[in-house]
Amino acid sequence: MNSYRNMTIILIFAMCIILWPNQGHATAESNRFVALHDRMLHFEKGEVQIVNGQMIVPFEKMAQYLYADIVKTEDQIKITKNGTTISYDYNTKVTFVNEVIEEKNAIQMMNDVLYIPIRFLGEVTGFNVEYLSSILTARLTSETYPHISNQDFINKVVKDRKPPVPAASDKPIVYLTFDDGPNRYTSVHLQILREYKVKGTFFFIGEDVQRHPSIASQTFLDGHYLGLHSMTHEKRKVYANATAFMKEMQTENDLLKKLTGHTSTLVRAPYGSTPHVTSSMRELLKRNGYKMWDWDVDTVDWKIKEENFTQIVKNVQVGVEKARLAKDKQIVVLLHDRPQTNKALPQIIEWLKKQGYSIQPYSPEQHVSQNFWRDQGL
Ligand SMILES: [Zn+2]
Repeated sequence: MNSYRNMTIILIFAMCIILWPNQGHATAESNRFVALHDRMLHFEKGEVQIVNGQMIVPFEKMAQYLYADIVKTEDQIKITKNGTTISYDYNTKVTFVNEVIEEKNAIQMMNDVLYIPIRFLGEVTGFNVEYLSSILTARLTSETYPHISNQDFINKVVKDRKPPVPAASDKPIVYLTFDDGPNRYTSVHLQILREYKVKGTFFFIGEDVQRHPSIASQTFLDGHYLGLHSMTHEKRKVYANATAFMKEMQTENDLLKKLTGHTSTLVRAPYGSTPHVTSSMRELLKRNGYKMWDWDVDTVDWKIKEENFTQIVKNVQVGVEKARLAKDKQIVVLLHDRPQTNKALPQIIEWLKKQGYSIQPYSPEQHVSQNFWRDQGL
């Protein structure tokens, strides 16, 4: 192969990377949503994407949602809304606004579908476009159409997505709890839980919430419970003294509250509450309205190699059966956001369902005490 051909191949390859750096990556991380006035618009999963830092949506579908006039010919698609016309020429791949070439080529074809940045489409056709990060939603509003405030809209969306308080049942309840996210394995867990229609409880590390805020938001929006697992997860810092301990949890709570609007009341002490959580730390927790959970079943998933993931499934089976035989009605299972746990989770859920366990997220209204200190006030 001569060096000219070599260079060409490298160049084409580099261009592909430059053009679509976020595609796939962003959608795997979390969904994004679009709202028009007070209504969430329905898009299939993956239809709303982030490409080059811009949120893009299918052009024609979004135009229909805006009640735009749509005219299609063999060569062009043209939409008109509020006196503005946006068109795309299939042959030249050029975007026009009111028949004038739009320099940035806003509309792009991907997998035979035309996509347009939602901000561009909204603003050109006279809408206000705001990104509401706590609900991962771009919201379009117009001055002339009545609508509630952004804050009321966020509250409404969050309320609609909250899972109902689970009904009391005779079945033993299993709480699947996931520590040490958010990270990319959290996203896989979310996907699996969605498929099986199961809710869990996540104990995130505050500093990682700062690194991956959209994964934390997505977890909350999916209806899982967000507990507290400290800001730093560093033994030396978290357990330095009672004040430091409380601050690690409060700071994380403030962070989650800002991000999701949710205030957490459940703490999981890093490395378990014994022997680290002293009596003065426990008193502070109570005084500030917190509960603290350890676990019934330790799957030791964190130290199991990915290829041995079935061992995690076995550890759940053995541990849960043991708890059930001991007449435990609420069984807390400790898992982590790790690749080996991603692999084990479908089998864990399938087994629990088959055995008739009810899998539920933590619910403050139905709190059960579960801590190694056997402190009933927590
Ligand atoms: Zn941890």
